[in-house]
Amino acid sequence: MKRRVLLQRAARFAGIACFAGTWLARAGSASAAGQDAAAPNGPQPPPSMLPKPPPGPVSYPVQHTEEEWWAKLEPARYYVLRERGTEPPYTSRLLTEHRNGVFTCAGCGQHAFSSATKYDSHTGWPSFWQPIDGAIATKEDRSQSMIRTEVHCTRCGSHLGHVFEDGPPPTYLRYCINGLALVFVTA
Ligand SMILES: [Zn+2]
Repeated sequence: MKRRVLLQRAARFAGIACFAGTWLARAGSASAAGQDAAAPNGPQPPPSMLPKPPPGPVSYPVQHTEEEWWAKLEPARYYVLRERGTEPPYTSRLLTEHRNGVFTCAGCGQHAFSSATKYDSHTGWPSFWQPIDGAIATKEDRSQSMIRTEVHCTRCGSHLGHVFEDGPPPTYLRYCINGLALVFVTA
């Protein structure tokens, strides 16, 4: 319990960075197990588990001008979806959404994640271990002096979050998704 509170405080301190969850979760699990911080943290997936970006340019079925997106979305959602922003951790109401249903892209309504693949990553962002088939694509993100894998909607191209290789089985992936990028629809 103490560890979780510390993690939450540290994540809040880290502010808007989704990546912080990765580092904190790893550091937390290492110390909780009484291991040296440099020790490996259990089984790691092979690098090939991370979804590969599509080769070449991509065109999205749903297209809007940025003016149309601005008119369509509330400002906080526009910031995340169209400016690749990150919401502050522990702010999404979807963190406590445990009903059966589907999480859709807030930009276009495409079904993105099933509630069956949602889990609590203790990072402060809604997390999933697998997207719905064909719903998301990835690309390399070299912002903030890091190399991460950005996740976006295949239908409208909107930014949803990032994917990391520290998730649970069976995929060992953690789709770290902004709650503002999603709309939950009950089954
Ligand atoms: Zn979309």
